[in-house]
Amino acid sequence: MYKPSINEETLAAFTTNLAGTCIASGNADYEDARAVWNASIDKFPLLIARCKGVADVIRSVNFARENKLLVAVRGGAHNVAGNATCDGGLVIDLSAMTAVHTDIVNCIVRAEGGATIRDVDRETQIFGMAVPLGIVSETGIGGLTLCGGHNWMNRLHGFACDNLLSVDLVTAKGELVHASKDENTDLFWAVRGGGGNFGIVTSFEYTAHPIGNMVTLCAPFYPIEEAAGVYRAWRDHMTDAPDAFTGNCMIWSIPAHEGFPSELHGRAVVAPTGVYTGPLDKAEAFIQPLRELGTPLLDISGPIPYEAVQQAFDPHFSSDKKRHNYWKSLFRDDLTDETIDKIVDRGMNRPNPWTLISIRNLGGAAGRITPESTALGGRDAKFMLSIDTSWTDPKQSESAIAWTNSFWNEVRQGTRGSAYLNFLSDDDDHDALMSASYGTASYSRLKRVKAKYDPDNFFSLNQNIKPAG
Ligand SMILES: Cc1cc2nc3c(=O)[nH]c(=O)nc-3n(C[C@H](O)[C@H](O)[C@H](O)COP(=O)(O)OP(=O)(O)OC[C@H]3O[C@@H](n4cnc5c(N)ncnc54)[C@H](O)[C@@H]3O)c2cc1C
Repeated sequence: MYKPSINEETLAAFTTNLAGTCIASGNADYEDARAVWNASIDKFPLLIARCKGVADVIRSVNFARENKLLVAVRGGAHNVAGNATCDGGLVIDLSAMTAVHTDIVNCIVRAEGGATIRDVDRETQIFGMAVPLGIVSETGIGGLTLCGGHNWMNRLHGFACDNLLSVDLVTAKGELVHASKDENTDLFWAVRGGGGNFGIVTSFEYTAHPIGNMVTLCAPFYPIEEAAGVYRAWRDHMTDAPDAFTGNCMIWSIPAHEGFPSELHGRAVVAPTGVYTGPLDKAEAFIQPLRELGTPLLDISGPIPYEAVQQAFDPHFSSDKKRHNYWKSLFRDDLTDETIDKIVDRGMNRPNPWTLISIRNLGGAAGRITPESTALGGRDAKFMLSIDTSWTDPKQSESAIAWTNSFWNEVRQGTRGSAYLNFLSDDDDHDALMSASYGTASYSRLKRVKAKYDPDNFFSLNQNIKPAG
């Protein structure tokens, strides 16, 4: 195992100069600090530098470089592949850097690199504004935005990265650079989809949208036995979807949670869910047919506070760090009856009830942005399938992973093989997936930007883009 040693004086100088804390094995909070969201990832960093600000981040980068330490960058720690931690190296932990400031006059939000979606929602919704981020509020905005950021307003305002105005980023040399449409434009292009390859973003600046505080949720739950028909009808209805509606048709089991009637706990269902951001009458008219695809076991559709919908999934994707996870995704240009039948068949035979299979409808504003204008791949696809396999007993790991891979290989046939890079797992063939997902031209360009900002691949624990040359 990689096992660096650091002389005591050097370490003392580093920790003394840190405004935040440096956590090492043996410290009381080491166990908690080293854990990430996915319980399958069990790594033991040498040190965890919990930064308080930009100066701490620069010092940590310099310290790692000078001492030849492997570096992992941690935002919200939700990356399923476990990129936020490492064995033996330094974790540069941004989880204490969560400040968010909303400029209500110019509709601009500035958030520190370790903020979560919930942090941003709290500081924007108070003014009736929102930044399109993801759908589980404890997820970090850092990893999410840098690889895209699919959200409930995806068709209205694009991926999270489409709403970026600028970033402040600490490079491998320990320099702070600003990137926007006017400055360091190559870097600004690359961070919108290219992940954490180019440096540590200490500040994200986004456009905020004045959406008010209420949206309309579509959430009828039908018996899984009706899934083949529900998926077909949902697919057809989505062809006329307005930009205001972003949908996610999923196979799941109703969780044993107080928010659901106890007699339905554990019931396998198909749910053509979605969020309409816009006038209630138009929302109701559009979602009504999705509520009449049969007799729902439960229907919780209706107006709902935006923050409530953002947090609705939180209890079911708990941050207790006890769930093992293995996720895979696939962009699709179509959703044929044959594909639906394969998905439904798998949905009826999931390894356990927590496993969620979802199909999101893409397009809308996100699809109209030209593929070349950001690094993000897959925005021209019509659908995104994700298989979120999840279990608690480590003894089940092998079979759960095998099930996921065989499912993915089956539905991958006939597609471009491109995947959403925020949903990779640790053993995926990242290079092949990135090549298919970015496309040849963007992938080559990303490698050139990597060579410019991180020629030694100092930031290697991510969906890693190797520097050109
Ligand atoms: C429960 C759950 C729900 C999710 N929902 C969605 C969703 O709705 N939409 C969606 O698009 N994705 C979603 N994801 C996927 C998510 O976007 C990725 O897991 C993402 O990596 C999480 O970001 P993080 O900051 O929490 O990650 P971390 O694990 O902390 O970091 C992962 C990697 O991101 C990079 N990184 C993080 N912060 C920074 C930074 N400030 N500067 C530079 N690099 C950084 C680093 O390379 C790091 O290794 C979800 C994941 C989970 C577990």
